[in-house]
Amino acid sequence: MTDNNSLLTRSLNAVWHPCTQMKAHEAQPLVPIARGQGVWLYDFDGRRYLDGVSSWWVNLFGHANARINAALIDQLGRIEHAILAGCTHEPVVELSERLAHLAPGSLGHCFYGSDGASATEIALKMSFHYWRNNGRGAKSAFVSLAQSYHGETLGALSVTDVALFKDVYAPLLRASIQAPSPDSRLASGGTDAEAHAQACADWLERHLAQHAERTAALILEPLVQGACGMGMYHPAYLRRARALCTHYGVLLIADEIMTGFGRTGTLFACEQAGIAPDLLCLSKGITGGYLPLSVVMTTDAVYDAFYADEMTRAFLHSHSYTGNALACRAALATLDIFADDNVIAANRDKAARFGALAQPLARHPRVRNYRNLGMIWAFEVAGASAAFAREFQAQALTRELLLRPIGDTVYFMPPYIIADDEWRLLVERTLECLDSCA
Ligand SMILES: *Cc1c(COP(=O)(O)O)cnc(C)c1O
Repeated sequence: MTDNNSLLTRSLNAVWHPCTQMKAHEAQPLVPIARGQGVWLYDFDGRRYLDGVSSWWVNLFGHANARINAALIDQLGRIEHAILAGCTHEPVVELSERLAHLAPGSLGHCFYGSDGASATEIALKMSFHYWRNNGRGAKSAFVSLAQSYHGETLGALSVTDVALFKDVYAPLLRASIQAPSPDSRLASGGTDAEAHAQACADWLERHLAQHAERTAALILEPLVQGACGMGMYHPAYLRRARALCTHYGVLLIADEIMTGFGRTGTLFACEQAGIAPDLLCLSKGITGGYLPLSVVMTTDAVYDAFYADEMTRAFLHSHSYTGNALACRAALATLDIFADDNVIAANRDKAARFGALAQPLARHPRVRNYRNLGMIWAFEVAGASAAFAREFQAQALTRELLLRPIGDTVYFMPPYIIADDEWRLLVERTLECLDSCA
């Protein structure tokens, strides 16, 4: 019989955990998870934790979701996985058709990957290769935003701007251009979010006017820069970025790996700016948090540039589990839930109720920049010490909350099925944590 302590010991011996200084677990134990149900994760003694970060932003409709479980069990009786080079299957075809129908613009061609970082790699390679196939091989530079996060493989890290993840590996990375971030927290005194966004777009315009000849693509996280601490920005930036990319002949890559599938209040964040990218990266919530899967969606124009007799003009990127049938089926079940439960509209009402219930937090004397977009809530904590995030996380665990502040930013990104009483508990206990953390 597995118990909490034996699992922790074995895990520390055998498992190298992600995004973790393993030595820190001498002081702060891992959280052993025996099972999950809805927003709750349970350990082997029946202690529960409210999954306030949707298990790293992936879970949309709760753990052990009956509808996704049933779809996966059905799929297991058909085909679990088949090679996607030279073969095809129903889940991958249906998912591609449905995503093309739902996504902004005309992104009718789906290329599958295994996770978010690999979607970024695919989008970068595809944009460079697109220009090369059009006789513009000099267009090999990428522009990304300051504070951006696009994943941690070497290519994705090159367009990421989080010092903690990036600096060590600098000698391995390709140089990329970091444009100023439209994050409204960076607006200087007296400037509003929109004026700040416009000023950042002005910078982008000056840059592209000079360097478009060498630039393959601009990659950005629409509306919310997640990993830097939920930096939210005005949609005017996206409208300008879209227009500038079109004008200067630069591809626009929208990384909706975190913002996609309803997280910002619309199915895709780009919708709030009324724009469509040339390449759209999706992952995280795509399978409802069940299985690793990502996709890069693109236009006829990009696809057609690869369609030729020569093998070298083809996009030869591959990974062995491309278009995994089980993962695609989980994604289809997730899309069914969106449609059957009218999730986008339901979340709008829910977010309004939750906003009202969160007022004590918004007005707490230590809370700065309280903000909400869709099903994301975030704020900075004044007077936070260097150890704040770790301390807050530990305090939260003693109060049945699984939260992972980023620096001095506390955020909630719960599964969409969170009920009002669960939200109340989240708010009340977060207030307690604020009062007990230095
Ligand atoms: C999480 C994330 C990624 C990377 O996805 P992984 O599956 O962790 O590789 C890329 N971009 C954004 C915006 C993300 O939030």
